[in-house]
Amino acid sequence: MPQALREIKGLGEKRIKALENAGIRELADFLDFLPLKYLDYTRLKRLSECSEGEEAVLRLALAGRPSQARVNGRMLTRASFFDGTDKISITWFNQPWMFKTLVNEPELLVYGRVETLRGARVLSQPRIVSEMVVTPVYRTIQGVPAKLVRELAELALDQTRVEETLPAALIERFDLMGRARAIRQAHFPDTTELLERALRRLKFEDMLCFMLNALMSKNSEASGAVIRKNEAGIARFLESLPYELTGAQKRVLDEILTDMASPKAMARLVQGDVGSGKTIVAFCAMYLAALSGWQSALMAPTEILASQHYQTALKVLEPLGVRCALLTGGTPAPAKKQIYEGLRCGEIQAVFGTHALISKGVEHCDLGLAITDEQHRFGVRQRTALGLKGNSPNVLVMSATPIPRTMALIMYGDLDISVIDELPPGRKPVKTRIVPESKREALYCFIMEEVRRGRQAYIVCPLVEESEETDAENATELYDELARTALKDARVALVHGKMKSEEKDKVLSDFAGGRTDVLVSTTVIEVGINVPNATVMVVEDAHRFGLAQLHQLRGRVGRGEEEAWCFLVSGETQRLKILSQTNDGFLIAEKDMELRGPGDIFGTRQSGAAGGLNADALKDTELLYQVHALAKEITSTHTPDAEKLKMTAQNWLRGKNEVVFSQN
Ligand code: ADP
Ligand code: MG
Repeated sequence: MPQALREIKGLGEKRIKALENAGIRELADFLDFLPLKYLDYTRLKRLSECSEGEEAVLRLALAGRPSQARVNGRMLTRASFFDGTDKISITWFNQPWMFKTLVNEPELLVYGRVETLRGARVLSQPRIVSEMVVTPVYRTIQGVPAKLVRELAELALDQTRVEETLPAALIERFDLMGRARAIRQAHFPDTTELLERALRRLKFEDMLCFMLNALMSKNSEASGAVIRKNEAGIARFLESLPYELTGAQKRVLDEILTDMASPKAMARLVQGDVGSGKTIVAFCAMYLAALSGWQSALMAPTEILASQHYQTALKVLEPLGVRCALLTGGTPAPAKKQIYEGLRCGEIQAVFGTHALISKGVEHCDLGLAITDEQHRFGVRQRTALGLKGNSPNVLVMSATPIPRTMALIMYGDLDISVIDELPPGRKPVKTRIVPESKREALYCFIMEEVRRGRQAYIVCPLVEESEETDAENATELYDELARTALKDARVALVHGKMKSEEKDKVLSDFAGGRTDVLVSTTVIEVGINVPNATVMVVEDAHRFGLAQLHQLRGRVGRGEEEAWCFLVSGETQRLKILSQTNDGFLIAEKDMELRGPGDIFGTRQSGAAGGLNADALKDTELLYQVHALAKEITSTHTPDAEKLKMTAQNWLRGKNEVVFSQN
């Protein structure tokens, strides 16, 4: 039944490779590859009813002849429309065929975000809607067109028999949708109501499996890798640093080292605001692992961050004799093979990387410590998957996302929690200002002044589309313009998600090494980037971000001795004002929840490998509590159903969905 990708007609070698890189190996894997989001093409609105920033479907008639022109090297198609209630002006970039489409079809349905510019309604890059249905949007797989991904998902649904994995009694008790139907609806929903029910069912199962595993591992007495608390080693490590650890770092390090030295495997979450210095604590643990003869792995959510950790490791760990390696999706095949081999034979002691670390080829000879950084970016399954690469290694999770303690206890039920609640000394809070469009010139002057003083700056463009393509274009456009005009005397560089990993590495290492002054980027730099000489962070269209996310971005500056600034370019002040008033990540997260509703804190984006829902702990609070109670109930009983469920949970962890319950 599992159909290999090779057997699918018309699917070439290149695309198969691209799919495999995204974690899809057979047709059935598409069932797990759930859409990132959905476009609700059923939401037909009149312009007069649309609030600012609302995403809606509009039925429009062309008002006047469309225009087409080349601007900054890009084809710009523009036209005015009327829907009986109001007028709107629409722009398309680089879609030269739109002109003809418009002339031939003067009436159309479009979907997009309605905004206001100088008092007039505008829409940029809307999609043409052909059917008024709820449409899935999948994560971009580089090298595979979105349309093909959709078709393959459809094919997978038609050709795969989906079995039920929950007992009938549970399905009834919690009013859940059957699994087969839920998976179909999650891909191609008939209505938004059915979609919600489908997602609830799938999340329910994911959370239940996760929590069962959490409770089982907490109760298990299985022994893990013992990493000795080598006092001389610790001293050597600390002496090699140019600074002294803060009290909080010392305390948390000690908690980790004590855990690792005990025969029971460590399972610990380290929380700490941006800049609190989590990395060095993790590195010390990696060093001790090596001293005790164990391998360690550190998984980061982006290539950039993984490579940065690796660069730090070359400076901190290699001189102490630890053999390090970097493994990401972009690592060329021959190098990859070498790293696989090095891990298998124990030659490599500390490996850094992205979710490539949990891909099938990776086998460690003696993994004793598995660390994931910035954990909310990973699905729960991925984080556990790294731990499974060894024989119950010590697990350390590092997160900068502040979540209330009670929530953390449920979300990370299996983890003990340490908090680094102190920043390194001498940090001045980043001065945060909201900059209206009209002050843009002054902003660029300020940046030039900082550059003349030898400082560096980031300029971040928001993600507007789910497509990295469009985001990359937006960043490129801003880069082109700034490099030609306001910042022409500075060395300006560009980085975005569509660039090859070597290119990205080059740009970032140039920036880190001070060979460029200003870095224009998409949010790829959001997590973890560390360039202490950068003193200015500019966020374009700041209102498009959550406060917690802005706080993360702001955390990229103010890492050195110099005064640092964060400029939020936006017309909105009310919500953003909080950021100029406080630097406390926990407080900001709370405010964010109050203002935007809990769902938005983690954003809706997933990253990393395919598969697995990211249950959103805050949005799904109610469900979490229910499932938590249920998991406790199940682990304390031994009925046949309960035993089967525990097996399901263990299979889930390994990415398998074995049939345990018959369909009814
Ligand atoms: P985060 O917790 O956000 O991951 P990092 O680990 O990236 O923070 O650390 C931020 C910066 O602070 C790095 O440049 C690091 O070298 C520096 N740093 C960490 N600990 C200390 C310390 N105790 N004293 C001074 N600087 C420190
Ligand atoms: Mg970090």
